[in-house]
Amino acid sequence: MDRGLVFNIQRYSVHDGGGIRTLIFLKGCPLRCPWCSNPESRKKVEPTTWKKNGKTEQIGEWCSSNELLDEVLKDEIFYRTSGGGVTLSGGEVLMQTEFASEFLKELKGLGIPTAIETTGCFPVERIEKLAPYVDQVLFDLKIMGHSEAKRVIGVDPEMVTKNFDYLLTQKQIQVVPRIPLIPEYTTNETNIQRLIHFLTVRRLEEVHLLPFHQYGSSKYDYLGWEYPMKKVQTLKQAEVDEIKELFERAGILANIDGLE
Ligand code: SF4
Repeated sequence: MDRGLVFNIQRYSVHDGGGIRTLIFLKGCPLRCPWCSNPESRKKVEPTTWKKNGKTEQIGEWCSSNELLDEVLKDEIFYRTSGGGVTLSGGEVLMQTEFASEFLKELKGLGIPTAIETTGCFPVERIEKLAPYVDQVLFDLKIMGHSEAKRVIGVDPEMVTKNFDYLLTQKQIQVVPRIPLIPEYTTNETNIQRLIHFLTVRRLEEVHLLPFHQYGSSKYDYLGWEYPMKKVQTLKQAEVDEIKELFERAGILANIDGLE
């Protein structure tokens, strides 16, 4: 596929991969996380619309790999001086595997560090396609109970585990596990213990925690969708610290990071 559907480009980001980065958000995600802060990215890889301040706006623009490359190269100097690069986010990057791998290959060819964010919810063959062109994978781990994960967010945890383990065997890739801290969903004690177990059996010593926020709330209004997390309070600092400590007691350094 020579064109990708992009719904946002965020420049000068200092989250999501290290150094100064450009984040490219690819449209399409098969999951249905109730806390999603990019609901406009969800469902199919096709443009959609929302109504913002009385105006209808299109979400998603098809662009070629070269057009996107021209855009990110404007900030090449920042990548070189800060150790940054380009991160593909979403949505779910694996919804546009062909385009993403083509684009990442071009970046690698130019010596620009690459990262992707993924939930790993696709057959491992898709990850294999991207793997040669990726330096870092920011891998989201969410609900670890099998039936709950399937019911709430539409994830197959076995597939997630398979992809995660495949990436760990790729020596050239740094895998960064990231956990959104979502009250009622990921922060209950059972889930945290399952996450700790998942990481410790793989001898991973670092995790990034992303506390829940309400920043995506207005997007649901633009889309005319109901936001299921509207009344959910953000976590108090003490609650975040408590979770951080649980990981650190298990020997896993927990960084409180960007936003989910
Ligand atoms: S995986 Fe990310 S983009 Fe997809 S529904 Fe969940 S939070 Fe939203």
